Amino acid sequence: MDFSKGATGWPRREFFRRAAELVDKLLILLSNDDGIEAPGLMALADALSPLGRVVVVAPDRERSAVGHALTLHRPLRLKKVREDWYAVDGTPTDCVHLGVHAVLETPPDLLAAGINAGGNLGDDLTYSGTLAVAMEGALLGVPSMAVSLVARAGFDFFPAAMVGQRVARAIMENSLPPRTFLNVNVPVPKAGSPLGPIRVTRQGRRIFGSGIVKKTDPRGGEYYWIGGTELGYVDGEEDSDVAAVARGDVSVTPLHTDLTDRERLEGFRGWKF
Ligand code: MN
Repeated sequence: MDFSKGATGWPRREFFRRAAELVDKLLILLSNDDGIEAPGLMALADALSPLGRVVVVAPDRERSAVGHALTLHRPLRLKKVREDWYAVDGTPTDCVHLGVHAVLETPPDLLAAGINAGGNLGDDLTYSGTLAVAMEGALLGVPSMAVSLVARAGFDFFPAAMVGQRVARAIMENSLPPRTFLNVNVPVPKAGSPLGPIRVTRQGRRIFGSGIVKKTDPRGGEYYWIGGTELGYVDGEEDSDVAAVARGDVSVTPLHTDLTDRERLEGFRGWKF
């Protein structure tokens, strides 16, 4: 695949025609953490539908920032919303489990998450329900990707949906190594400029600030909001996901479910415990 072209380099009709030619009738499981009514979910379902049958199993409400939580201590309800669309009163990870083990009769060829309304960059991946969907897919042996739109308001999901389709095709053409999954972040181009090319990046770092707002409620009790201030990211890392989207480029980061610090493994073996 030629990643040097801008992500929106093809006219829409040509884009879908090529996609339909190259990949014939995949079974695709789609979920998210913004809930079954999220417009980003619908945009990605539309963009992936030329590749095959898209089955949506998504939370019945927004479950952003629940991470990789799995519901073990209460029953889960699966509600058919319409043909191939199911809502679950659980977490994004619950949705992947029910999708693979209860809804689909055969394992999916691809698992897609998103499109999340907001970026999933740097250290924030560890909180993300969107990334947890793709991580769970990778743990279950399904080629998986997560797609996020790096925006705060005025979401136009179409460019990110087209990028999602391109990455899905690339996964099918190249295949992913075991337990590796892709984190895709699509920025909003600056006014008048096209969306930048797709860059393969590594996970960046966040600058941890005191993102806590402390207030007093009407009865005098103190309460706290987490994430009340804009948090920054470490600059000067050219090949990071954060730097790529800051330049207006699309970021694709290969992630792995094995969190072992392999570089320092030998050093730790020298410790006296
Ligand atoms: Mn979300």
